[in-house]
Amino acid sequence: MEQSKTRELPLMKEIWYETLQWQPEEQQQQFQRLHTKIVSGNRLLNLTRITAPEDFWEKHLWDSLSGVSNWLEDNEKQKPLSTIDIGTGAGFPGLPVAIAFPHWTVTLLDSTRKKVAFLETLVTELEIGNVRTLFGRAEAVGQQKLHRERYDLALIRAVGQAPVCAEYAVPLVKIGGMVILYRGHWSEADRLTLESAAEQLGSKIELVRSWKTPLTKSIRHCIYLRKHSSTPENFPRAIGVPNQQPLG
Ligand code: SAH
Repeated sequence: MEQSKTRELPLMKEIWYETLQWQPEEQQQQFQRLHTKIVSGNRLLNLTRITAPEDFWEKHLWDSLSGVSNWLEDNEKQKPLSTIDIGTGAGFPGLPVAIAFPHWTVTLLDSTRKKVAFLETLVTELEIGNVRTLFGRAEAVGQQKLHRERYDLALIRAVGQAPVCAEYAVPLVKIGGMVILYRGHWSEADRLTLESAAEQLGSKIELVRSWKTPLTKSIRHCIYLRKHSSTPENFPRAIGVPNQQPLG
């Protein structure tokens, strides 16, 4: 039987500091409240399989922030970024990012209406003031004037193959902006295909970072794409096409 009471999340102060050189403060309480809400939301909606406290800490909180760890240090002093999380699901990586960077704005985009409605209630209840939610398909949103080339940073985790994710994300970022693809394993063949897709969209692979998660030592990669020129108008292609015929 499923556990009905939410156990406390571990604080993991030392591990945060050792791995990402970050010391969460008021964020600890928000992380705990986020976990509680997601566990209770999961009883009605199929949001995430990852709910056990250690698992949630590692695969949702830590993993989400690992990709943006270069901004964590002295983050109050840096320019706030306008960020979009594409295919956010239960809010990852976008919600931990919004909590860790309260001066950034984070748009959570998903094509499942129920998930977006859940997130809308969640951010109101947790008083996370720097989050907007957006219901839609990345292929459509990427062609809307209000969203195309408007973001400094786009994040995308577990939505599809890397070239598909690039086609969803690159059109949404400004020239000079960045896309972070959160991946598990990563090969030279993956890099070559993505390189070609990224170029067609007006971007370049700037950096590939790899690490192991701190508790279960699972392999992770983050691919950082820098947008150098405007994305041709035909991208993203019509709904479903990026996934059926991935660039490469
Ligand atoms: N990023 C989250 C969820 C991954 S599941 C995490 O890592 O935990 C993939 C999510 O992407 C689902 O919630 C699905 O509704 C959404 N999605 C899939 N295709 C999409 C598209 N074309 N545009 C917007 N959202 C999409």
